[in-house]
Amino acid sequence: MIPRGSTGAVTTMPDYDIIILGAGLSGLSLACHLVGSSWRDRTILLVDKVVKERDDRTWCYWGSTPTLFDAAVFRTWDRLRVAGAGFERALDLGDYRYRMIRGADFYRHARALLAAHDNVAFAQGVIEHVDDGPGGARVIIDGRAVSATWVFDSRFQPAELRDDEARYHTLKLHFKGWEIETPEPAFDPGMPTFFDFRTPQAGEVRFFYLLPLTERRALVEYTLFAPRVLPRRDYEDALRQYLQSTLGVSSFHVLREEGGVIPATDRPFPRRAGEHVMNIGTRGGRVKPSTGYAFMRVQQDSAAIVASLARHGHPFDVPAGPHRYRLYDSILLDIMCRHGGQIGPIFTAMFARNPAERVLRFLDEVGPVWENLLLIATLPPRLFLESIGRAVGRVPAAAGPGGSAVRRSSHV
Ligand SMILES: Cc1cc2nc3c(=O)[nH]c(=O)nc-3n(C[C@H](O)[C@H](O)[C@H](O)COP(=O)(O)OP(=O)(O)OC[C@H]3O[C@@H](n4cnc5c(N)ncnc54)[C@H](O)[C@@H]3O)c2cc1C
Repeated sequence: MIPRGSTGAVTTMPDYDIIILGAGLSGLSLACHLVGSSWRDRTILLVDKVVKERDDRTWCYWGSTPTLFDAAVFRTWDRLRVAGAGFERALDLGDYRYRMIRGADFYRHARALLAAHDNVAFAQGVIEHVDDGPGGARVIIDGRAVSATWVFDSRFQPAELRDDEARYHTLKLHFKGWEIETPEPAFDPGMPTFFDFRTPQAGEVRFFYLLPLTERRALVEYTLFAPRVLPRRDYEDALRQYLQSTLGVSSFHVLREEGGVIPATDRPFPRRAGEHVMNIGTRGGRVKPSTGYAFMRVQQDSAAIVASLARHGHPFDVPAGPHRYRLYDSILLDIMCRHGGQIGPIFTAMFARNPAERVLRFLDEVGPVWENLLLIATLPPRLFLESIGRAVGRVPAAAGPGGSAVRRSSHV
């Protein structure tokens, strides 16, 4: 139900200051950042086709600074385990912590935070269309029009991922996970597995990920970077095989499943979708293509959008990030596309030969150039050199309103 409504074009007075399309990670994060800012009294409408309450996903992220969602954190670890062929290591995360938030806890926490603000409304409905215009943007929800000065759009369907092999690398990061319980203690609750490449690679990137919740309970995921998703049974066979043969867990009970398909591509995701419309979340390119992580990037983006609104009255002055990191992503995607089976050795070398904090800074896109070069020098050189040339031509230059990034101070 949409609390307010209007028909026709946006005229003098939009219905809301802000409409956020999609009340998932990026939509709720942006709303929570807004109510903590000088825009706290602006009218905000969040629209989603579903009321998100289920544990539909588990977010993990690493960080050394607080977020608005710390109270929703379910587990925190200071170590991570990585494994590959003939290699296994426990990493000390230094100042970083690896944190886990269950989907249902995130949604509940965000909604509770927003409930304290009666200028924030929720509507359930299917968003059909967005029209941009001079006075604002108009959104059609279940056939009814609602307008706002600013619209933030997080709708994304994996089917929208088009392959354009000649210009971009386009893979899907897809996975299936089981939350399982075992009759006997089987897991070290202090040690999540960031990746375990001990599984046939079939020329693709294939690994397992494991979050130990207790000694008898864990979320274990079979994850691939590959052009095509697998039949359901293949994920399940691989999970069973890993649990039984690699971990020696022969008896377990599946409590819950989760899975997903995330874009892994250097194709630009336009940030600006019109005069008054900005893409956020996956749709706005906030998923890091070479890792699939988005949680912290979405928090940083939400903070940057709010800072831009407060400073300029428009949301578009958000940092694009150093251009070289687009190149590193593109190089890794090129290797994934052409020599997927080599990513296991590359990632294990990265963690074997560098302190974990250096690798995490690299993946966070915050390390200085000299530190990037130190890290790259520890990786097998041949594949990198081969892929650099192929990647350089594909990485878009820091793009303007229609590209992957938004110019600084670019309101037009
Ligand atoms: C299972 C899973 C696990 C993940 N784990 C991690 C992790 O551990 N760490 C990490 O950093 N990232 C993770 N990710 C990646 C990323 O953080 C998530 O995909 C994240 O939810 C992306 O945020 P978003 O706002 O773009 O999309 P979403 O959170 O999916 O929100 C989009 C919302 O838009 C709504 N919507 C879409 N179309 C319409 C429409 N037409 N009308 C109305 N509503 C619509 C949807 O219902 C949805 O609620 C994971 C992704 C998945 C799928």
